Amino acid sequence: MYSRRIVLTSLLGLLGGTALPGGAYAARRKGIPLPEAKPPRPAPKVPPRPPAVLVLDPGHGGRDPGAIGGRGTLEKDVTLSICQTIRQVLSKHKDLRVFLTRERDTYIPLASRVAFAHDKGADLFISIHADAAPNRRARGLSAYSRAEKASDDFARALADRENQVDAIYGFDASATDRQTAAILIDLARRHSHNASLNAKRRIITGVGRSVPLLDNPMRSANFAVLRSPAIPSVLIETGFLTNPQDEKVLRSPRARAELARFLAGEIAPVTLDLRDA
Ligand code: ZN
Repeated sequence: MYSRRIVLTSLLGLLGGTALPGGAYAARRKGIPLPEAKPPRPAPKVPPRPPAVLVLDPGHGGRDPGAIGGRGTLEKDVTLSICQTIRQVLSKHKDLRVFLTRERDTYIPLASRVAFAHDKGADLFISIHADAAPNRRARGLSAYSRAEKASDDFARALADRENQVDAIYGFDASATDRQTAAILIDLARRHSHNASLNAKRRIITGVGRSVPLLDNPMRSANFAVLRSPAIPSVLIETGFLTNPQDEKVLRSPRARAELARFLAGEIAPVTLDLRDA
């Protein structure tokens, strides 16, 4: 998806920088008569921009309850409720479409959650969780992006699996030589990695004005759900169910909805910017 945009943008840039003005200037300077100026053509209609797509992933579900709080709060319920509120808040946004990887208390494998985001053509993927820690004093919100070392092998191996390249990045690798395909894949992957870092930073900085943060709230780890090489992805730990204060917030429908509204307010502009990137 991104590489397609990158390629299109650079092509459009080349076409936009047409040689005409320079040519006309050079002709005038040399005293060559210029043809009669034609009446300006009406500007081509710009197709309306498609809405930005946000995929929210309520962590856990079904037989996997996730973390369990001291008062019996289940992470899988908290995450679903927060995602539903974020969607409800953002439903007024005409420029945004929000999808949830699960609507009910069901078990969804991690890989299917990532595949769902690819199917929807997500501009941003946000997985919502609530943490647990042996230290009951640990509290606050934090966000993770994928911890990754760029590996050339990855791009080369993926370039060989042409149908996957098309599914993930939206370009036809069979029509491109393997070397070029690998370069495009690597570019796209770096782009989405940087976009994930940036999204994490903006969300944490924004919600940090209203919500208590964990010490070192910007974190990275190789969570399976952050494995998309094409979609900027962030996992948000909304607090610790093992901390009595955090659990109080996360189990109260009102406090939880307020937290979800703060998150919605930060996630929306990030998603729109990623669409326009
Ligand atoms: Zn979790």
